Amino acid sequence: MTILDRMRRAAARRGTQTGLRFEDRRFTLADVEGGSNAAARVLKAYGVGKGDRVVVCTATCLEGVLAHLGALKLGAISVPANPDYKDAELGWILEDAAPKVVVADAPRIERCRRLAASSVEVVLEIDRGERAALAAEGPRCHPFYQAVRKASVHPVDELVWDDDPAMIVYTSGTTGRAKGARLTHGNLAANIEGLLEAFAWTADDRLVLALPLFHVHGLCVGLHGALVSGCETRLLARFDAEEVRAVLEREQATLFLGVPTMYARLAALAGEETVELPSMRLFVSGSAPLPVPVAEAFERAYGHRVLERYGMTETLITLAQRADGPRTYGTVGTPVAGIETRVVAEDGRVLGPDEAGELQVRGTSVGPGYWNADEATAASRTDDGWFRTGDLATIDAAGEHRIVGRSREMILSGGMNVYPREVEDVLLAHEDVAEAAVYGVPDDDLGEAVAAAVVARAGASIDPDG
Ligand code: AMP
Repeated sequence: MTILDRMRRAAARRGTQTGLRFEDRRFTLADVEGGSNAAARVLKAYGVGKGDRVVVCTATCLEGVLAHLGALKLGAISVPANPDYKDAELGWILEDAAPKVVVADAPRIERCRRLAASSVEVVLEIDRGERAALAAEGPRCHPFYQAVRKASVHPVDELVWDDDPAMIVYTSGTTGRAKGARLTHGNLAANIEGLLEAFAWTADDRLVLALPLFHVHGLCVGLHGALVSGCETRLLARFDAEEVRAVLEREQATLFLGVPTMYARLAALAGEETVELPSMRLFVSGSAPLPVPVAEAFERAYGHRVLERYGMTETLITLAQRADGPRTYGTVGTPVAGIETRVVAEDGRVLGPDEAGELQVRGTSVGPGYWNADEATAASRTDDGWFRTGDLATIDAAGEHRIVGRSREMILSGGMNVYPREVEDVLLAHEDVAEAAVYGVPDDDLGEAVAAAVVARAGASIDPDG
């Protein structure tokens, strides 16, 4: 069953329940279902069909969600684009994805038209309010919001299969130009299956989602999970620690998904205070390593042990701690349903417990490869079909995984492998340090020496020589 089928089922069961809230607007689950059907009709009217790409380039807004879901319903490929992309990045995505239609909000519409490659016929302006002033040249531009309001809310879905492409998500990785990671309908469904179980996510949850919706964390974990579970979601356009803390309290939230920086900021906001959030059930962290000192500071202030999960754009969520299981700081749990992992040495040997090597994964949420980049796809796989994450990990005897660094980020100093993550954890344990990044610098003696950039905590001053 696709996520679309499951969202429809949730809407049929609890249609009048609030689905998404954003600013002063509220969509019930039935509104999301009907609105995305209408969005599909509008896209179809502009020629979008199965396999066509639809780039969605907008700040967080409800119509952006409808455009994304509408594209999926047509069997088209949704391509989220970071609204803060500079011209070079946005231009590259428009060229590489060659979308039939671009959906953008007013601040981006003219840039999208200017940068749109020749394949783009139509740009749809998503805003409800005044239309942006447009230059004469460039692709045709039509209103999206008004058309969606007028369109029928009855389904127009194309039949899609598990192997059919659903999304292309651009990811820069550590080298070169952004590559479009392809994700199928089967990948999206498997991902949701795994994480609903890991987070024990149900229709009774109230989620606060302050993650951007152009990245898989916000979109494929947060939004898809919310709509499939049928829970109520408060969308926030951006993360602001004070606002999030107030919203968690006011809205009796039960679930929050964040990145480590959010936890660091929430912990800093609380300081020595203890924050009571009686309705909260679960805080989840992912997208980057959650430093142990940050997790500890957060737990001291908020009384919650953050659940950590690990994933990538190319594979979606592959490892997670469990809502009802043990949570050891510094670990990212065990494989979610449908995923297998192994840790491999540079010579291809599969390593045993506690030995560090490259983490490789395979299974149902792992995407089929990159768009227009067969070489990169081939390089990302082993001969026997495992996806090479490029992350260094260990697996202990109990199956708990630890991410110890990026393979390309490992610092080789005097023949010793130094994992930036471990040094960063030490630096972050210092009371005057708010943020730390550790990297290698060339060194005549050691080959590479370990260097760190640190941000001092407010009010503290750090003496580099001290
Ligand atoms: P992205 O494709 O932008 O989501 O980035 C994926 C990368 O984020 C992974 O390859 C890891 O390097 C990193 N990452 C994601 N989750 C975690 C985690 N829980 N711990 C450590 N690194 C993580």
